[in-house]
Amino acid sequence: MKLAQDQSLTLVAGGAGFIGSHLCAELLARGKRVVCLDNLQTARPTNLRLLEDHPNFEFVEGDIVNALPVDITSRAGQFERIYNLACAASPPQYQADPEHTMLTCVVGTDHLLRLAETSGARFLLTSTSEVYGDPEVHPQPENYRGWVNCTGPRACYDEGKRAAEAMAFDFARMGRADVRVARIFNTYGPHMHPDDGRVVSNLVCQALSGRDITIYGDGSQTRSFCYVSDMVEGLIALMEGDLDGSEPVNLGNPEELTVTELLEAILQIVDRPVTVTHLPLPTDDPRRRRPDISRAEAQLGWRPRTPLSVGLARTCAWFAEEIAGGDVQDPV
Ligand code: UDP
Repeated sequence: MKLAQDQSLTLVAGGAGFIGSHLCAELLARGKRVVCLDNLQTARPTNLRLLEDHPNFEFVEGDIVNALPVDITSRAGQFERIYNLACAASPPQYQADPEHTMLTCVVGTDHLLRLAETSGARFLLTSTSEVYGDPEVHPQPENYRGWVNCTGPRACYDEGKRAAEAMAFDFARMGRADVRVARIFNTYGPHMHPDDGRVVSNLVCQALSGRDITIYGDGSQTRSFCYVSDMVEGLIALMEGDLDGSEPVNLGNPEELTVTELLEAILQIVDRPVTVTHLPLPTDDPRRRRPDISRAEAQLGWRPRTPLSVGLARTCAWFAEEIAGGDVQDPV
């Protein structure tokens, strides 16, 4: 379905993905007209099926690494908001084609920033907690500059996002675009790809289907998990907030737990006996990660509201239905 020519539009690049599909749904619920641009590289096709019947939703297939599709550029004047969520974000996925990951971050963001410049649209880049690398400062505030290995296997994503941030802030400094930068910490919930390799989707699918649980290393590394609806609220608050956009904003849940504790929380919900297999810790896997969200709290009045037990229960219920319905073919 093609949206009318004379109405203001919100572009969501990466809108068929995990967070992007929830963002599109929330924007539609708030009465926005949403164009989703996605290359379907890591998206679940069912995420789109949930949106595509909505009269204010339009899907355009395209890869932001390439010149933007004419369907997008021909309507540049209509875009008033551009969200960039287009990039593989789980380590196995972004490392599968590292050159493409780096180009998506840098060249793709440049294409979208130029579109924002032409359109006069406000632009939001989704950056990542990975810009802090394996952090020496804990929890991580936005002014911590990070400890990233620029030659390691995570660098295509970490350094790609760091470069994308640099470019976004240059566009802002030069008055070329009004930009916002969100640094997203680990996020989970329905619409995750069951086999994208992230810890929540892996452990939940493994527990539900009675497979061995894969814990990398000894399971003492920590992460802080934010439920997806909280993340979407934070992204919209950042996009719409009355702030100058000259600084990045951490978005995440500051409740930190070890991977072993995450497994215990999942097993409180999926109550069945499991066998745990320990696999080697991936190279450059951060030892700990927890956002300092003081800036988001002060500037946006935002903080996550969904307790882990509630978010995990919803996530487990959703994956259980996917597995029962045959949508999860081969959970890893
Ligand atoms: N992890 C794990 N088992 C898995 C997948 C991941 O123990 O099946 C670990 C991984 O090594 C990392 C943490 O869980 O320490 C979070 O990994 P994820 O890929 O979800 O995201 P990251 O925060 O590393 O980008």
